[in-house]
Amino acid sequence: MIAHASTVSRVARAPRARAERRQRTVVVPSATDKTSSRIVASSVALSTLVAANAAGASEIAQTAEGAGVAVAGALAIAGAGAALVMTDPSKRRASMMSETGGDEAASVKNYFDTTGFERWNKIYGETEDVNKVQLDIRNGHQQTVDKVLDWVKDDDMSGVTVCDAGCGTGSLAIPLALKGATVSASDISSSMVGEAERRYNELVSKGASAPATAPKFEAMGLEDASGRYDLVTCIDVMIHYPKDRVDGMINHLASLSGKKLIISFAPQTLAYLILKRVGELFPGPSKATRAYLHDEADVEAALQAAGFRVKRREMTATSFYYSRLLECERI
Ligand code: SAM
Repeated sequence: MIAHASTVSRVARAPRARAERRQRTVVVPSATDKTSSRIVASSVALSTLVAANAAGASEIAQTAEGAGVAVAGALAIAGAGAALVMTDPSKRRASMMSETGGDEAASVKNYFDTTGFERWNKIYGETEDVNKVQLDIRNGHQQTVDKVLDWVKDDDMSGVTVCDAGCGTGSLAIPLALKGATVSASDISSSMVGEAERRYNELVSKGASAPATAPKFEAMGLEDASGRYDLVTCIDVMIHYPKDRVDGMINHLASLSGKKLIISFAPQTLAYLILKRVGELFPGPSKATRAYLHDEADVEAALQAAGFRVKRREMTATSFYYSRLLECERI
């Protein structure tokens, strides 16, 4: 069978749809989930918090597994969110970064090459071996990807050049390539981008129609990406960038794009700050301390300074996944 992108996407969503139906009945992680004991009694508070719009994004998952869960408990127990926002996570961050000599990018790379790869490869995959929180994040992330694909669904992508920076396991790069785009997919983690290449090759070997120009998969930090593309995408990566590096990141991505830039980030709101800060009180493999939230006005100002304006925007918010998506065009 020839598996076009839409077919692949439909096929991929079938198990997700089943999983979503199951998930609707159980929002709180099961009692066997390592983190769940912290929150089981607090699910109502968490739901309330989320409904009030805690903002978040992708690594989202990291927050979700450690932090998100904790937040509800803390709110329910103490109602001390505001005070928690004032707590300083710098000690934990410093300790985490000391492993990589204080180099934040190296720390992120190290995480996504090791434990982060195991975690995110599952979340961005089809395996049923995910807990409720991970499943929620998988579904939220897929919604973001689907929104991007919907934005380009009427475009003839044949030969359109795309740079997907921080491509992860290829959730967006692969469907774009299967729509005919000439894709350069890169990620700072060789494990993540290696998995993207493996998944692409597997789909093509199973009959997906390959584009005229095969996608290029490279292990590379986005700061080292070069060239000029019709479309530059960078989904759920900004969460790894502290505020003082965001302008440079956006400026560099913009310099690679001749026409369009599609980016997403975890928007900064009080509710999500609380969620994140409480999570930082609970050490764990998810390393929530490396999740940076961003003020939408700051992001837009950086885009404008780089010669881009926002044409469309979307917000994806599930229980544990929050991501603001912007489609920008050259002014
Ligand atoms: N964009 C993908 C998606 O939406 O499926 C992956 C998102 S995942 C949450 C974040 C990815 O960003 C990871 O694969 C990580 O290795 C990558 N990343 C983080 N910092 C990066 C950087 N400076 N340059 C390139 N990739 C980076």
